[in-house]
Amino acid sequence: MDLYYTSTRDSNVKVTASEAILKGLATDGGLFVPETIPALDIPVNQLKEMSYQETAYAVMKQFLTDFTEDELKECIRKAYDEKFDTEEIAPLVKAGDVYYLELFHGATIAFKDMALSILPHLLTVSAKKNKADKEIVILTATSGDTGKAAMAGFADVAGTRIIVFYPKNGVSKIQELQMVTQEGGNVDVVAIHGNFDHAQNGVKKMFENQKLAAELAEKGYQFSSANSINIGRLVPQIVYYVYAYAKLLQYGEIEEGESINVTVPTGNFGNILAAYYAKQMGLPIGRLICASNENKVLFDFFQSGTYNRNRKFVLTSSPSMDILISSNLERLIYQITGKDCSKTAEFMRMLGEEGAYTVSEEMKKKLADFAAGYADEAQTAESIRETYKQTGYVLDTHTAVASHVCREYRRVSKDTAKCVAASTASPYKFVKSVMSAIDKKYNDADELELLKELEQVSGTEMPQAVQNILHAEVLHKKECKADQMEQTVREILNI
Ligand SMILES: *Cc1c(COP(=O)(O)O)cnc(C)c1O
Repeated sequence: MDLYYTSTRDSNVKVTASEAILKGLATDGGLFVPETIPALDIPVNQLKEMSYQETAYAVMKQFLTDFTEDELKECIRKAYDEKFDTEEIAPLVKAGDVYYLELFHGATIAFKDMALSILPHLLTVSAKKNKADKEIVILTATSGDTGKAAMAGFADVAGTRIIVFYPKNGVSKIQELQMVTQEGGNVDVVAIHGNFDHAQNGVKKMFENQKLAAELAEKGYQFSSANSINIGRLVPQIVYYVYAYAKLLQYGEIEEGESINVTVPTGNFGNILAAYYAKQMGLPIGRLICASNENKVLFDFFQSGTYNRNRKFVLTSSPSMDILISSNLERLIYQITGKDCSKTAEFMRMLGEEGAYTVSEEMKKKLADFAAGYADEAQTAESIRETYKQTGYVLDTHTAVASHVCREYRRVSKDTAKCVAASTASPYKFVKSVMSAIDKKYNDADELELLKELEQVSGTEMPQAVQNILHAEVLHKKECKADQMEQTVREILNI
């Protein structure tokens, strides 16, 4: 059966999956959503015998119905290959009473790889299908993780170029090294003198600049985005929840049909939304537990029904969750309005203009699938330290937030369902915060020195991705002022 996508803000929109992937965002500013969420058409007891790639095909074919079997399988094959350091792609590891779904075995050792290793291939197939003949130029602003994952995904993918902007002093040492050493003839990365918001705004302005778009088109280019609102990122993320459930069955940890809870360290609300879609497909998930750091705008929303971004932005040790506008939440809002696009558009207008909105009691009732919690900085560090002490397993800061929230939820609710926590980054990526949490004596240590120390402490080998950047040549040295981003793009593309 063919599945079409509509916009959260205009029900007249009807596009194929490949069109939605190519466009990224609907013209009305809304997000693309599937007209219906398909029911999982393979029984889970069959899924438990399947590899990650086979599971990916089984799930994704139900959402990307205008892709042929060959096209989709080819995308999956190119994405989930030796770039991952384990054949399992997303191993499930039990430590204490939590099952950690390790989503950090890809090229950049964070969960963005799960989707960004396949998006470039989905995008180039989509371009071909829709007879878009221009070279796709991906523009991305990053606070650290997305940029590198996007570069690694798009590097040397024919028909694409990628330009990434990051705040010069706003990313970790490891993150910066990862980006400036990225190889690939179609890759550029620029450090801007400003913060992430400047980078983000600069990119947004270029996307909205019609004159620039026309000049690009003349030269055979078109902009596109690798942003997490693209359904080409969302759909691949549904896969690993299905895979995790199948693993629990395979390992004999649960009975068939047994309901599990899922805890997700959340920023832009993409990862947890994928779990919500998995539940809608019929995967036996009880509660979706949304874990925030001190930027707990989502926790407050689930408590009160009011989303309010008018608050102080806090820099935390889990920077990929330092977000006050969770773009993907719009898809959930759409769902709980009963797919009412004018209501959804109105909430988003209020968010844009006033920075806040409050949902109705009726809508709030429909949030019963969700629970929410948060961890402050001390609790995050404690979560790393205690998990290590009790189990020997070392969590990264983001996963530590989830771990704390998961255990706290269980303590308070007395809900005893087994819990899978999305483990979104390798501890090696945030080695400084992780080691300081384990022992204060590391507080003043050099970040790169600590990598060896972490090998000792965790009994795990330093990921190849980290070893590589330690010796790799710095290939990118471009910098620019925040107001010179367009000029820089023109120079790079020669227009
Ligand atoms: C992006 C990211 C998150 C947040 O995921 P969302 O899909 O934006 O909610 C959490 N942890 C890490 C390490 C990330 O890179």
